[in-house]
Amino acid sequence: MQVFKFGGASVKNAEAVKNVASILKSYATKATIVVVSAMDKTTNKLEEVTNAYFYKKGDAVALLNELKNFHLGITSQLFSDSTRVNNEIENVFVELLWAVEEEPAFSYNHHYDQLVSQGEVLATKIVSAYLNENGIRNTWMDARGLIQTDNTFREGKVDYALSQDVVSTQLLPKLKSDGLVITQGFIGGTSENYTTTLGREGSDYTAALLAYFTNAEKVIIWKDVPGVLNADPKYFKNTKKIEELAYHDAIELTYYGASVIHPKTIKPLQNKGIPLYVRSFLKPTEAGTVIKESDKRMNVTSYIFKDQQILLSIQPKDFSFIAEDNLSTIFSMFSKHNVHANMIQNSAISFSVCTDDDEHKIEPLLCDLQEHFKVLYNKNVQLMTIRNYDNDILEKLSENKIILIEQRSRTTLQLVMKEAEGS
Ligand code: ASP
Ligand code: MG
Repeated sequence: MQVFKFGGASVKNAEAVKNVASILKSYATKATIVVVSAMDKTTNKLEEVTNAYFYKKGDAVALLNELKNFHLGITSQLFSDSTRVNNEIENVFVELLWAVEEEPAFSYNHHYDQLVSQGEVLATKIVSAYLNENGIRNTWMDARGLIQTDNTFREGKVDYALSQDVVSTQLLPKLKSDGLVITQGFIGGTSENYTTTLGREGSDYTAALLAYFTNAEKVIIWKDVPGVLNADPKYFKNTKKIEELAYHDAIELTYYGASVIHPKTIKPLQNKGIPLYVRSFLKPTEAGTVIKESDKRMNVTSYIFKDQQILLSIQPKDFSFIAEDNLSTIFSMFSKHNVHANMIQNSAISFSVCTDDDEHKIEPLLCDLQEHFKVLYNKNVQLMTIRNYDNDILEKLSENKIILIEQRSRTTLQLVMKEAEGS
């Protein structure tokens, strides 16, 4: 048994969906769970819909209609008779349109999950129907019934025991009888039947969880890159593919922000020793990267950039030291608002934290912090992490940048940087 994951780029249009079918024909030759994300930029669009609805900034209905036409455009190219699948798509949009007609009754994060999750529902309905019509028999399953979470909206915490139970009693028998199950990445459900999401780009995590619960022999993430690279091709021309990566190195790379795999993906796989392959859906015969248990340490230099960061500098109002009591107050506030520190630095009377600048989390966090502390902040900073760094490259990368914080260990260098004025 194996788990495949196809992200938004692998189902971005009709051609891409056909390519998924051809990969499944060649490689899903044993029981396979296929985890699919929303098509192309659908999740971003649904975020826009949520903002338009919740903050009354924009036209949610018009945005939904655009998105509906995008999906119907794809089905018109995939099916000779798309009536059935189009009905299913229409139904999803009827629900979405109803939802945005009501006044918001819950938190932003709660509404976000109910709306944004539908991107995955739409994608899997289309993919599943297309496969069935083309001789690849499969069963569509709703991940909201499989991945059980608490009600931390936008970052559902997975209940392993409950999820294990439903996967064993509902998914496994289907997989045994039907061989191929198509389900959604990124989304889960609460005991009160609300939808949750697992964090942006969370479909990889879903694939890892399902592999864990089914004791799969492997996971393959099919991507538009040939494997795990030492740097993001968005920033570097000459990237190198890494053939083999230990779980340990993979978790570090993703923790520092390498966007190739979601950071939560590695733990469930490591816990059961399930290898993860990252392969190209454009060149499926190529080997890609394997991530597995290994004592070998990565020796290539790798570069990870995290943009849209905010650097907070937190100072006690009474000029007291930043010591355990203050730190514990600060960390409990971070934890309450689900804000994760990407880098921290401490001095006598100031504690600096670099974190993702997500206004829906940072604003309420600042409110709480400012009750006890003086908080200064720098927006639009970039966090750069270099593993196995050398000093020459450092000079080049920090050209025209102001370095706000620098931290070095033997293997890892981290810089918080800001564009110099006028550059
Ligand atoms: N569709 C979701 C996102 O774009 C989840 C994923 O792609 O993994 O964040
Ligand atoms: Mg996506």
